Amino acid sequence: MIKYPLHLLKLVDTFRKLPGVGTKTAERFAFELSQWPNDRLQEMAKIIQSTSTELKHCHECGCLSEALSCPFCLSASDARYLCIVAMPRDVFAIEATREYQGLYHVLGALLSPLDGIGPERLNIDKLKQRLTNSSIEEVIIALDSTLEGDATALYLKQEFTHLNVRVTRLAFGLPMGSTIDYVDGGTLARALSARARF
Ligand SMILES: [Zn+2]
Repeated sequence: MIKYPLHLLKLVDTFRKLPGVGTKTAERFAFELSQWPNDRLQEMAKIIQSTSTELKHCHECGCLSEALSCPFCLSASDARYLCIVAMPRDVFAIEATREYQGLYHVLGALLSPLDGIGPERLNIDKLKQRLTNSSIEEVIIALDSTLEGDATALYLKQEFTHLNVRVTRLAFGLPMGSTIDYVDGGTLARALSARARF
């Protein structure tokens, strides 16, 4: 067992909490910080510390924002569409495509009974409220193609049946640049069933 100084171990443990960071990377970060001068460390600590006060959740859609209303709600040019995503990061990913000009709604989680995440954890009440008092014609479900994403999509579909909106889900298909013989069976089956007119 390597005898790291206690504070170094604390740093490693802290960094390991971040997604995609394993022990090796966490150790690299910790050793790097041990070389930083105090003012640089203070500056970093200050930025991290102010995250919860500087980043707010938009009251309308739940996306991250500097103000209580986000730019996506304020400047959506086509309010007939509402795209439902799991996390704020998904909004930015869709925006980056420049293919969508409608509204968003961030659920904040996906249904996962195994992890104890039920519908009460999703930002659904606000969603229903938005759908009942609006001119939204189509709800686009843009959730992961995973067990949790599928379960959440199905749940939402049931919740929307009595509402007068068209419910669609992002198409599943072949990844760009892929070859048919390399795609897994599940993806290929979905691509076939969701084929579009050419
Ligand atoms: Zn918003």
